[in-house]
Amino acid sequence: MSPPRQHAWIGLGSNLDGPREHVERALGELDRLPLTRRIAASRLYASAPLGPADQPDYINAVALLATRLSPLALLDQLQALEQRHGRVRRRRWGPRTLDLDLLLFDDQRVTLPRLTLPHPEMARRAFVLVPLAELAPSLVFDGQPLAHRAAGLDTRNLRPMLPQD
Ligand code: ATP
Ligand code: MG
Ligand code: MG
Repeated sequence: MSPPRQHAWIGLGSNLDGPREHVERALGELDRLPLTRRIAASRLYASAPLGPADQPDYINAVALLATRLSPLALLDQLQALEQRHGRVRRRRWGPRTLDLDLLLFDDQRVTLPRLTLPHPEMARRAFVLVPLAELAPSLVFDGQPLAHRAAGLDTRNLRPMLPQD
C-alpha cells in the first residue's frame, strides 16, 4: 500500500543569473518530482534582500504540493533541485540561484539538524507569508488565519511582479 498523500508548502527564492527564470522553471520542476504533484502556485513577488544588502532583489513565490514522499525525502529532492540550478553556498543569506525551503508539511512538527518544521522564520517574512496567504488565506498558523498574520507584516519591500516586469 502506498503512503498517504500529504500537503507540503514550498517557499521559492532566487536573486542570481536570471532569477525570474529560475523560479518559473523550478515551479515546473516541482510538479515533476517523484510521487509529487504541484497543485497551486502563488504569483511571483519581488523583494529586497534579507541579510547582506549588497546583492540583487529577490524573486519569490510559494507552491503547494501533494506528495507521497516523507518530509526528509522531499527535502532531499528540493536540495538536489537547488544543486541542478547551480546553487553554491557561500555566505549565510548570500545571493543564490535557487532557494527551496520546506515551510509546512501538513501539521507535522520536526526538529532535526537537517529539517525544522514549520520553517522557523516563515511567520516573520513578508516574502513568504504574503504569497502563502494569497494561496491559503484561511489556513490557521499559530492560532491565527494566515491572512491576518500577513496583514500585520511590513510589506514595503515586497511587490507582486507584473507581466511586463
Ligand atoms: P533560511 O532557512 O533562514 O531561509 P537559507 O534558506 O538561506 O536560510 P539554506 O542554506 O538554504 O538556508 O539551508 C541551510 C540548512 O537548513 C540546510 O542544510 C537544510 O538542511 C536546513 N533546513 C532546516 N529546516 C529546513 C526547512 N524547513 N527547509 C529547508 N531547509 C531546512
Ligand atoms: Mg531560505
Ligand atoms: Mg534554504
